[in-house]
Amino acid sequence: MAQSCATSTNQRVILLRRPEGLATPDHFEVQAEELSELEPDMVRVGVEYLSIDAGLRTKLQGEGFHSQVGVGEVLLTHGVGRIIESNDADWPVGQAVLGRLGAQTVTTIKPGSLAKIEDTGDPLSRHLGALGISTGVTAWVGVRTVAKPKAGDVFAVSAAAGAVGSLVGQIAKRDGAYVIGIAGGPEKCAYLVDTLGFDAAIDYKNEDVGEQLSEFAPQGLNIFYDNVGGDILDAALDNMAMRAKIVICGAISQYDDMSNVTGPSRYLRLAERQSTMEGFAVFHFPEAYEQATADLTTWLNDGSLIAPEHVLEGIESFPEALQFMFSGGNIGKLMVKVS
Ligand code: NAP
Repeated sequence: MAQSCATSTNQRVILLRRPEGLATPDHFEVQAEELSELEPDMVRVGVEYLSIDAGLRTKLQGEGFHSQVGVGEVLLTHGVGRIIESNDADWPVGQAVLGRLGAQTVTTIKPGSLAKIEDTGDPLSRHLGALGISTGVTAWVGVRTVAKPKAGDVFAVSAAAGAVGSLVGQIAKRDGAYVIGIAGGPEKCAYLVDTLGFDAAIDYKNEDVGEQLSEFAPQGLNIFYDNVGGDILDAALDNMAMRAKIVICGAISQYDDMSNVTGPSRYLRLAERQSTMEGFAVFHFPEAYEQATADLTTWLNDGSLIAPEHVLEGIESFPEALQFMFSGGNIGKLMVKVS
């Protein structure tokens, strides 16, 4: 007999057609479906928050590095929620869980693919944001395992007011670096310096990034942590110190047209400055997750890490979320609050 406080319908967001360029709301549709009786060994999760990641755009192309969403299929994304119906005694109703829940209000799933979240009283959204693998853990791994700044290093980060970038800059600052954030617009730049404690900020929408980097880092950058690619990466390459490092975390400026990626035209600066460029994907570092989560939890609890969240309300807001992110609407972790 299933444990239950279930609902009979699911609202799900499907891919209507593949975007060429910006993923606007008309590429998606919110559909209602009737739920059938729950099968043995399965559970139903009432979804509370869904993660909006820049990488979701690269899952809509039909081919690529990330697993792909088929036309007519539910959008792939991680989420958090609670079990509302269960046919597995180890996964009781009320248990908080994290997993690839998909863009929907109710996920019917084998519980083995979920992770239990211990109820500590913290908001569940934190497990997608500051403690999320694609957000806080990515920032920790990128800084501590790949970039490895030393005290006094000059460190710049792009998409600095976003989910990953806002944490990257704070961790690098904690490690003693002089931190420059690159973000779009005066409001975000003021936030980086006044609230997050960055040393300087560059508004790439209104300022010349190369000129500003040479002003803030006259001896050059020791580390550039790139989330954007394109012209911003080229401007950083022109402003590297000797024996510097560029960390490729992502390249959001390229995701709308992955068949025509603009590579860095200034890459010979690496040779001139005896420098390196290293890319990484967080899932190559599973051994680091435990330490990353422990550190992030400590810093959140002692108030030394600020992890902004930007929440869009309701499953019906999901179709606009990528457009919102790609036009720079979010400060911090973008999520959709489902219930
Ligand atoms: P996010 O930074 O919260 O949001 C993306 C931000 O990028 C936007 O807010 C926007 O801010 C900026 N942006 C968008 N289009 C841009 C453009 N054409 N040029 C410059 N800036 C642009 O997103 P996120 O999910 O945290 O992802 C950040 C980066 O981390 C992405 O590149 C993502 O792929 C990467 N990532 C990598 C890994 C890994 O394992 N390597 C894991 C997770 C995420 P502005 O207002 O500043 O333009």
